[in-house]
Amino acid sequence: MKVYNTLSGRKETFEPIEENKVRMYVCGPTVYNLIHIGNARPMIVFDTVRRYLEYRGYEVNYVSNFTDVDDKIIAKALEEGVSAEEISKRYMLECKKDMADMNVRPAVTHPLATQEIDGMIEMISSLIEKEFAYPAADGTVYFRVRNFPEYGKLSHKNLDDLQSGFRALQVSGENQKEDPLDFVLWKPKKEGEPSWPSPWCDGRPGWHIECSVMAKKYLGEEIDIHAGGEDLVFPHHENEIAQSECCNGKTFARYWMHNAFLNIDNRKMSKSLGNFFTVREVGEEYDLQVLRFFMLSAHYRSPLNFSRDLMAAAKNGLERIRTAAEHLRQRKEQGTKGPMTQEEETLAGQAGEFVEKFQEAMDDDFNTADAISVIFELVKFANTHVTEDSTCAFAEKLYGVLGQLSDIMGLVLEQEEELLDEEIEELIALRQSARKAKDYQKADEIRQTLLEKGILLEDTREGVKWKKA
Ligand code: AMP
Ligand code: ZN
Repeated sequence: MKVYNTLSGRKETFEPIEENKVRMYVCGPTVYNLIHIGNARPMIVFDTVRRYLEYRGYEVNYVSNFTDVDDKIIAKALEEGVSAEEISKRYMLECKKDMADMNVRPAVTHPLATQEIDGMIEMISSLIEKEFAYPAADGTVYFRVRNFPEYGKLSHKNLDDLQSGFRALQVSGENQKEDPLDFVLWKPKKEGEPSWPSPWCDGRPGWHIECSVMAKKYLGEEIDIHAGGEDLVFPHHENEIAQSECCNGKTFARYWMHNAFLNIDNRKMSKSLGNFFTVREVGEEYDLQVLRFFMLSAHYRSPLNFSRDLMAAAKNGLERIRTAAEHLRQRKEQGTKGPMTQEEETLAGQAGEFVEKFQEAMDDDFNTADAISVIFELVKFANTHVTEDSTCAFAEKLYGVLGQLSDIMGLVLEQEEELLDEEIEELIALRQSARKAKDYQKADEIRQTLLEKGILLEDTREGVKWKKA
């Protein structure tokens, strides 16, 4: 399996530190608002990477943080006249809901910055001890970039070029830094802001330190994959490397993966430019599976332009796959019973070739665009070869393959249609009459069907009551 590594600037053979295990850290969102579909891109992309690694037999320890202390959260809290905690809790829950709707699986651990302050103080202290950091007079602690000669290795930036850029940008209040390149690890509190005591001053951590600390705590000092959007390469990930490698004396992450931007009119979709759509807004117009399909129809390192036309194409594409799945589902129930025919055996063998091609695409730096093309080829194959005369066994075989490949992409083929109230009442009435007729098996089946649709039944003295689970 090949993975493009931002660190080396090329595709490399994937070899995890521990056999069959992958330690993976993905920088998560700052929770001060509903997430936009640009933020959704890394979520969907790296969830798919995780699913594929698991399909390849790796046990993936997937960690993704929520940044729950930050200037933007504080500003929003002030604006609404509530606590920063209330804002971050609210939007973290909203974010989790969006993730579930996009079929992005929860991480093994979702650490919160505010819950990891002790670890941050510990890492900063250790950096000071090793002379990689220093406190300034007002209690701000800075990282001493010049003491880490490898600084710039991820973003392929040269320290002197950086220095001249920074000199031009240098702003007032920064003059307590030893060097303009130095960045903040800890900053003093301001009135009305959340703060924690520390050996340097009451204050709060800088953004970069949280990821170094959480990755270390939940995954260890050396990890396999560190991922995020390409805007994080510099300075966030460069700074994470500096902090972690200077503190631990080990290579921090083996593979650095970065997704390209989701654009709108060829400009990055972002809160600050105001050219964004939230996942929630898109969800009002489309099934969010369409959004997922749209994101995966491009390679993760290619910029992707959001447009109605492309969403319409994604909707059609997904429908084509779902219609084929529905056809196979029907045929596997209504087809000819008994073993596959000779001809079907041969065709079933050919279906295996689609799996191989799919794997080839995904092994090549997770080329989901090519992998989706293979799914379309399989759909065409199934539509051609599964007919009224096919056996259930053959339809079932192809259904299994289509289901498996779609599942790796996180695409749900069975459209969950919500039952209408009248339909629920009807099923309950049917169950009641089955019970009267002492057909308890049928009554149980109906109860089970309803349960699968999220409807709970309760037998009471006044009759059967139901509620949504
Ligand atoms: P933020 O909340 O801004 O820190 O962003 C959370 C994640 O979303 C980071 O990995 C960003 O790189 C990523 N991200 C933000 N905007 C976009 C975009 N327009 N396209 C792709 N990724 C983005
Ligand atoms: Zn991070």
